[in-house]
Amino acid sequence: MRFKAPWRPKHSNFDRSGGDAHASATRSSARNQQFLSYFLGQYGQRSTIPLASFLIAVAAGVGIGTLVHRAASEAATTLRLALALAAGVAGLVAIGRKLASDHARQRAAIALASGLLNANRDCLKVLDTDAKMLRVSEHGAALMEADSPEQLAGADWLNFWSGDERTAAEDAWRAALAGTSTSFTGSCPTTKGRTKWWNSTLSAVTDENGAVVALLCASEDVTQQCELLKALRERDQLMHEMESHVRLVFYSYSAHFEHFHHVSAGAEPVFGIKAHELITRPSAWLDLVLPEDLEPLLAEMHRIASAGVEGRSEYRIRRPDGCLRWIRSTAYPVRDESGNVVRIIGVSEDITSEQERLAALDRLAHTDGLTGLANRSALVRRMKTLCTQNVPFGLMFIDLDRFKVLNDTLGHTAADRLLQDIANTIQQALPSDACIARLGGDEFAVIISGETDKVALATLAQSLLNVFSCDVRKDNAAPFVTASIGISLFPEHGRDHEALLTSADIAMYAAKKGGRNGFRFADKASSDVLGDFELERSLPMALASEQFVLHFQGIHEPASLAVKGVEALVRWNHPTRGMVGPGSFIPILEESGFIVEVGAWVMDAALAQLAIWRAAGRRGLCMSVNVSARQLRDDTIVAVVDHALRKHALPPRCLEIELTESALMENPSLAQQTLMALKRLGVRIAIDDFGTGYSSLRYLADFSPDTVKIDRSFTAGLGRDAATASIIRGIIQMSHELGMQVTAEGVETEEQLRTLRDASCDHVQGYFLTKPMDAEHLVDACRSLVMRYGPSSLSLLATQRSD
Ligand code: C2E
Ligand code: MG
Ligand code: MG
Repeated sequence: MRFKAPWRPKHSNFDRSGGDAHASATRSSARNQQFLSYFLGQYGQRSTIPLASFLIAVAAGVGIGTLVHRAASEAATTLRLALALAAGVAGLVAIGRKLASDHARQRAAIALASGLLNANRDCLKVLDTDAKMLRVSEHGAALMEADSPEQLAGADWLNFWSGDERTAAEDAWRAALAGTSTSFTGSCPTTKGRTKWWNSTLSAVTDENGAVVALLCASEDVTQQCELLKALRERDQLMHEMESHVRLVFYSYSAHFEHFHHVSAGAEPVFGIKAHELITRPSAWLDLVLPEDLEPLLAEMHRIASAGVEGRSEYRIRRPDGCLRWIRSTAYPVRDESGNVVRIIGVSEDITSEQERLAALDRLAHTDGLTGLANRSALVRRMKTLCTQNVPFGLMFIDLDRFKVLNDTLGHTAADRLLQDIANTIQQALPSDACIARLGGDEFAVIISGETDKVALATLAQSLLNVFSCDVRKDNAAPFVTASIGISLFPEHGRDHEALLTSADIAMYAAKKGGRNGFRFADKASSDVLGDFELERSLPMALASEQFVLHFQGIHEPASLAVKGVEALVRWNHPTRGMVGPGSFIPILEESGFIVEVGAWVMDAALAQLAIWRAAGRRGLCMSVNVSARQLRDDTIVAVVDHALRKHALPPRCLEIELTESALMENPSLAQQTLMALKRLGVRIAIDDFGTGYSSLRYLADFSPDTVKIDRSFTAGLGRDAATASIIRGIIQMSHELGMQVTAEGVETEEQLRTLRDASCDHVQGYFLTKPMDAEHLVDACRSLVMRYGPSSLSLLATQRSD
């Protein structure tokens, strides 16, 4: 308890037995009569008529005023109550005067006033000049949770209050004594100890001389409003605290974004503008939006306002401190009961870090990790944009020549460094606005936006090729690099990125076919190589789909024509193109490195066939298998050969591995090592196509092969010119002196055969004898060959020769 209870202990002079409403109303009316009579009794002797009239008027006025006031608003203020009171008093004073002239009328007035008091919802009290409560209205007692008005009678009204409220009560009391009606709001406990809030108005009651004889106090119970207000204030405070501590701006805008009803404190950290500035100048934040983002933002605001739908915008602002920030604003329309949008509420947040993270992710997703250039998806995205906007552009597809070879010889780390150097070179050689991408491996692509002039693009491509061949060599160890470039144009060669990439790719392929280190524009001619191009694309599937087959060609003894050995020659049995020769796909297999797998398959299949033939009685038969440069660099070749020989239980000497000179020359030391390892296995080595490359007998001596195979282009010269015959004789002689055997390839005529036999060539191979064919047919072909040229025919040949 804040203070000692100012009311008297519970006792009653009134009948409290009645429980029904009627009895209660009667009792209440009687008490109001007493309340009024009290004044008349107390003050009537001194100023019978005027005072009585006044009191009646006041009481009735309070009643009427309160009724008016209640009807007007539940949340009426003290001022309104006072005005109502004054109006009531003024109006009824006249009535009172008239009533006062007549006792009967007086009683009627008392009854009326009593009725009005009954209707009054305030706690009405009459205080004496010492602030003692003389009487309390019936309803007032109920508001104070007293059992009856008597319980409160005699209590010191000032003692109800404490602290500041006590001071306010004393001020109001003193002011009322001085003749000024005063109001104040304060809380005091009821008789049950429950705190209630009151809006109290004190007015003086004066006699005919103007002396204050009593005070009338009307206290409106405003507990509900105060609690509501308190709850609202607390919520407001909570909101304010929350709003001030988050970097979010909560706002309430008018329905068409003309002015703000509310902007939270977050406006300052987010926009750099104080909330109150936005209230006074609602467009201040729009002034910060970057010009290029403003239009879409305004369009979205217009959409929200006109369609009454929720919306969201992301835009950049330049804050007053110069900082560039990303903002996301979300807005929701709020409608009234009729469905009209009455305001737009929303939230704005700083999403700069989110945008930065997204941008970093985007960069990561669209950047080539090795070179830092754009990647394929970034390139495609750029092309899509240009195609959509109908901006003409040139696309260059750049593929390094023989990069696979470089990759294998340099090792991956050095090759990666080389790719980085190449990326830099491309960047430096091209205009700064060119979009340069690495598509993977050694493939690069460039978009030259706005440029479709072929002369300009050709100049650019040529300058790129020029810098490749000189600039990329950062140190002496770096290899000489060339590239092939295919160029397609939008819209001439395609209307979408796929068509343009394919055209450029085909053009690049044509440039490669045309001898590498060059460029081609996409055109009809380069589209013609599409066949080869498609072939290349389907190559990786060929091995798994068992599309490779082996044909075999006999290697014959020149005198008896007996088959001493067989050369395995691979073919690609293409599902739609039929049998494809090795010349069309071996270079592609070599470039892609896929030759290693295919080569291993050839080795196994060839030796499997040899094992079958040997088991069928051809015990001395040998198998020649071609091995390319790329296979030679891969040290698994030794294991592959060893494994195949063991698997098919074949002596190593029955296998002859054919290597071209150029294969040996690509990396002589590595080739030498592998060669030695193969030789240690016991395998024979042949130098294939001798006479087409270096034709260096010095290297022959270094590699010391078992066999030299004279290329068919040489053989073709036999019979045409005497010099070729002399050279071939010289090669055979020198090879024999070095302990090597000689096989002549491409023997197509009897004359060539005879010349070779005369020159003591060890073996001959060519269409004149047997063509490459499948294993089954070869056996028949050899049989018929011997039958055709049997010993007699051969002797005939011999006779002719001796002639
Ligand atoms: P190569 O090793 O010099 O094989 C001989 C080529 O000459 C074969 O062509 C054969 O069909 C052809 N030929 C044989 N006799 C004559 C003739 O009298 N006249 C004419 N005009 N040509 C004749 P093919 O089968 O097209 O093979 C071409 C090249 O492909 C081979 O040349 C070889 O370097 C390569 N090759 C073939 N099979 C394989 C393989 O399994 N692995 C590797 N790495 N390369 C292979
Ligand atoms: Mg060969
Ligand atoms: Mg050959």
